Amino acid sequence: MDIRYWNKDVETADVQKIRHLQLQRLKSIIASALKTPFYSRRLPSVGINSPDDIKTLDDLRRIPFTMKDDLRQNYPKGLLSVDTSEVVRIHTSSGTTGIPTVIYLSAKDLDAATDIMARSITATGAGRTDILQNMMSYGLFTGGLCMHYGAERVGLMVIPAAGGNTKRQVSLMNDFRTTVLHITPSYLLHIHSKLAEYGVKVGDLALKKAFIGAEPHSEGTRRKIEELFKIDAYNSYGLSEMNGPGVAFECVYKNDLHLWEDAYIVEIINPKTGQLVPDGQEGEVVLTNLIRHAMPLMRYRTRDLAFLHIEPCKCGRTHRRLSRILGRSDDMLIINGVNMFPSQIEEVVMKIPEVGNNYQICVEKDGALDRLIVKVELYSKMFLGEAKQIDNLKSKIGEELKASITIKPAIELHEPGSLPAFEGKAVRVVDTRPKL
Ligand SMILES: [Zn+2]
Repeated sequence: MDIRYWNKDVETADVQKIRHLQLQRLKSIIASALKTPFYSRRLPSVGINSPDDIKTLDDLRRIPFTMKDDLRQNYPKGLLSVDTSEVVRIHTSSGTTGIPTVIYLSAKDLDAATDIMARSITATGAGRTDILQNMMSYGLFTGGLCMHYGAERVGLMVIPAAGGNTKRQVSLMNDFRTTVLHITPSYLLHIHSKLAEYGVKVGDLALKKAFIGAEPHSEGTRRKIEELFKIDAYNSYGLSEMNGPGVAFECVYKNDLHLWEDAYIVEIINPKTGQLVPDGQEGEVVLTNLIRHAMPLMRYRTRDLAFLHIEPCKCGRTHRRLSRILGRSDDMLIINGVNMFPSQIEEVVMKIPEVGNNYQICVEKDGALDRLIVKVELYSKMFLGEAKQIDNLKSKIGEELKASITIKPAIELHEPGSLPAFEGKAVRVVDTRPKL
């Protein structure tokens, strides 16, 4: 295994040392937070008037959670701790309700975020000789620029391709011998389904790795990507509120994602009660950013559901590992009273060998009841099969889904390329039920 470190002292520091560093940095963040309109009201209301009121890391839990709505209600400057002359960059995320959320970075904040990104890239074994094609969108979204700066810092050659224009993407990969992709998993699968049309074979390309992220995906999807492209696919996790893609990243062992604990304090809570859950148990990820002072953010509820591994990783890093995102607490589907996550459906369908590179989940009203329809694309050769074979496959997919989600959905099989494709974040669920 090619184990490389960007900052070995910090990445392999013992737990005591990491906790000590977290406490020092938390106090410093509190000092910045008290300069913002938002936290200067909120922190004194729980008896925190200065950094000295934080004695141990447990004191963090005196601070109420910060919700996405807090960011919206305090848009645009309620969480800004410095004069805008100190800010060198902003990012926003649009969200579906219309009011965006914004983050502000000072030069020092940006430097720290870039360093964490560089650490993440290095953990996968990528380095100076690699050529990164960055296919996340550049601009207000954090995914493109933050990866770009991190990769340049490590010394990779960066192709700032951004999203879209699949044919040009494939030409760039071919012409510049791209070795690493940064891309959403759904778009990477879409690209595979277009290669034949462009007369390109996987073997013609020089790909070795992909950093996949920006949308939750299953282990089945990762395996499919690895097999189709003959590459290693590394899961990455981040969110714009926490500076983007480098919050947690897989190392060469690909056994879930090291969450960089010197930069972020992670808590896993029960989303209903807000209480911490025991180690190893699934819950909502709550993050405190320790490296951004222009816009402090503490105990931010991400809505992402995951768990923490407590056992050490073979790479020698001591930072705990976050599981892949198992779902979002706000995208749970309730179908005729049964709770499920779209990720459970993906996990099943992407493991079925006949299923191609795309799928869609539809929910509609059928009289008083809900109707769940899972539409999957097949590899083209399947359509040459007999009707009976098709029926058998439908019933196989239906039974395997029932074993996972307890209800049997209607299954529709589609030709390759016939379901909506996405060049960025995929929208997999189409729920046409009237909203209550
Ligand atoms: Zn590791």
